[in-house]
Order: sequence, then structure tokens, then C-alpha cells
Amino acid sequence: MNVLLTGGMGYIGSHVAVVLLQAGHRVILYDNLCNSEASVLARIEQITGKTPTFIQADIRATKTLTDALKQHAVEAVMHFAGLKAVGESVEKPIEYYANNVEGTVSLLEAMRETGVRSLVFSGSATVYGEPQYLPLDEAHPLSATNPYGRTKLHIEEMLRDLSVSNPLWRIVCLRYFNPVGAHESGLIGENPVGIPNNLMPYIARVAAGELKELSVFGNDYPTPDGTGVRDYIHVMDLAEGHVAALAWLAEHPGWYAINLGTGQGYSVLDMVATFVRACGRDLPYRIVPRRAGDVAACYADPGKALRELGWRARRDLLEMCASAWKFQNRTGTGLLGSDCEGRLS
Ligand code: NAD
Ligand code: UDP
Repeated sequence: MNVLLTGGMGYIGSHVAVVLLQAGHRVILYDNLCNSEASVLARIEQITGKTPTFIQADIRATKTLTDALKQHAVEAVMHFAGLKAVGESVEKPIEYYANNVEGTVSLLEAMRETGVRSLVFSGSATVYGEPQYLPLDEAHPLSATNPYGRTKLHIEEMLRDLSVSNPLWRIVCLRYFNPVGAHESGLIGENPVGIPNNLMPYIARVAAGELKELSVFGNDYPTPDGTGVRDYIHVMDLAEGHVAALAWLAEHPGWYAINLGTGQGYSVLDMVATFVRACGRDLPYRIVPRRAGDVAACYADPGKALRELGWRARRDLLEMCASAWKFQNRTGTGLLGSDCEGRLS
């Protein structure tokens, strides 16, 4: 199948590109490189031995996007492009609505124009808001606590409206839990610019000696060791989930939401201990007060993904840490140049 990946040069998109290419699909990467860099293309080639098409453009350039869909006879789109830093979204809501919501409208116009009706969307477990029960299944009430989350929620609703308007659409919103880790080669992975906000890249840089110590945000949560619990999922498992969703969509017109998580929660201290095993070094950390807006625990009921897609996560926390460490060692920091507003955590 010819598949266009908006945001395909980014962290998750690049891993999905690898799995798609290896499964025999043709891949068109469409990315403005505002949070990724051109060398990712060569790395994808190095891993797969195949050369995806790359178009450097913004998803809001509807005409360029329409031309790309036509020219490459695209049959399905995976939509990763967007800004994703929660804190930044509070400071710059207009940029977030413009990029994420307006960008998606532009994509949908281009798809409508060209008759491309299959879409896999990068959703997020953030749409569940404060968990009312655990594990989180897809029927859990939806809410948003910040502009980033609201863009994800608005887009989901928009996509649902679209499927109601025309039954030819096939749309699946994959609600990711906490994607971490890297491709086994260590050639592609998550490389945030500046000081990471997220736990795994922060830990990797502490282990590498680039940051002094980890701040553990709170140890007084109602969790087994008092630190926050999350459902970390290996990015390669996540990528395989996308390929399963693409095949499944061929038989399923309509709109769907499906969790991609492991169903297993791990605490911050679990993550620290596992990373120490993976890297063989000490990881200095300090307990500090809770981070505003954090929930105590968040993990998926991944049952629907198994029932519908026949997919389940297979890689464990040690593989997540080991691959992140390998990527950290191969890449170090400073790979990415800073060239756009809306940089990430
Ligand atoms: P990323 O920033 O690494 O990748 C996003 C890519 O989109 C980047 O390469 C960026 O250059 C590109 N991009 C952004 N705006 C664009 C635009 N207007 N036009 C063209 N390209 C544009 O992020 P990621 O971690 O790979 O996330 C991918 C998607 O998954 C995002 O939509 C994100 O909200 C969602 N998501 C991510 C996580 C996570 O923890 N990484 C969790 C839940 C959901
Ligand atoms: N966390 C932490 N120190 C950090 C970054 C994160 O203790 O420097 C904790 C955070 O409080 C949460 C967990 O690690 O309990 C995962 O945080 P992350 O930002 O990676 O993901 P999210 O909060 O979006 O689930």
C-alpha cells in the first residue's frame, strides 16, 4: 500500500516508517522538520535498505499536500504531525490549535479532494483526563486539562463527525499511553531539544552524565512506592500496532478509538531501577515535590487492541530502557538544530 505519514520524520513516525517499509509498504514522509531533522531519512534507509519519499512541507499547505496525495497515489494516511508539549501548549495555545487542529482540517480537505479515505490518527491517553477508574478502557469519559489535550480531543471529535457525514471514511484514533525506547539499532529514537520534560529521555541523559540527577516528582502518591505510575510502551510495539491498524481498517469503515498500551503500570522508581540494569551505571536521583497537573497512575486496558487488531505489546521495560540507552550512546544530544517555534519538551 502507498502510505503517507504526516510528521513521519519525528520520533514515532520514523519508527512506524521502518515497520511499514519492512512489511512491504511504500512510504511517503511529509514533514516540515520543525521538530525533527533531515538525517532521519538516511537512518531509516540504513535500517531498512529502502528509500522512502520525503516531502518537506507543512500540513497546512493544503495544495502541496493534495498534490502529494495525487502524485504518489496514496491509499492511506497516518497522521503524526503536531506539537505535543503540554507546558508549551498552555503558553502558546494559538500555535497549538493552528498546528494541530487547523493542520488536521487541511489534511482532511486534501484527503477529501483526492478520495483518500483511510486515516490512522496519533491520539493520546491524555483525552481521558483525570482517571476515574483504572485500567482505562476506551469507554472512559473524555476530558482535557490543557490546550494540547484539547487539540487531541477536538480532532477526535472532528474525525467522528466526518465518519458520520460519509460512511466511506475509515478512521482509527490510536490512543497512545507513554511511548519510550528506540529502534533496536539505536539509529533512531527520541531526541528532545534542551532539557527533557519526559522521564525516559531525562533518565538517559543523567545516565550519560549530561544531566546531574533526576528529580522524582513526588513520592507521596497512593501508589505502591509513592511515585507516579505510567503505562510505558516500547515505540517498536507502538509502531507494529499502527501496521496492524492499517490492515484492520481495510475491513472496517467508520470511526474507532483504540488504546495502545501494555496494560502494565510502572513507577518512576521502577523505571530508574530498570534503567540502572540496562546501563550498568548509577543513576542519582532526588525526591522533589509533585509536578503540577500530574496524576498518580495511568495505565491502559489494552483488550480492545488485542480483540480488534490482534495486536499486543511484546517488549518489556528492560528492552525499553536498553534501546533508549543504545540510542543515547549512538546519538548523544545536540543532534537536532533548533529551527521552529513549538519545540517540544
Ligand atoms: P515528534 O515531534 O517527534 O514528531 C512530530 C513530527 O511532526 C515532527 O517531525 C515535526 O517536525 C512534524 N510536524 C509538526 N508540525 C508539523 C506541521 N505543521 N507540518 C508538517 N510536519 C509537522 O512527536 P512524536 O512523539 O513522534 O509524536 C507524534 C504524534 O503522536 C503527535 O501527534 C503527538 O501528539 C502524538 N503523541 C505522542 C506521544 C509521545 O509521548 N511521544 C504520546 C501521545 C501522542
Ligand atoms: N517524572 C519525574 N521526573 C521527571 C519527569 C517525569 O519524576 O523529570 C515522572 C512524572 O511525574 C510521571 C512520570 O515520570 O509520574 C512520567 O512522566 P512523563 O512526563 O514522562 O509522562 P506523562 O506525565 O506525560 O505521563
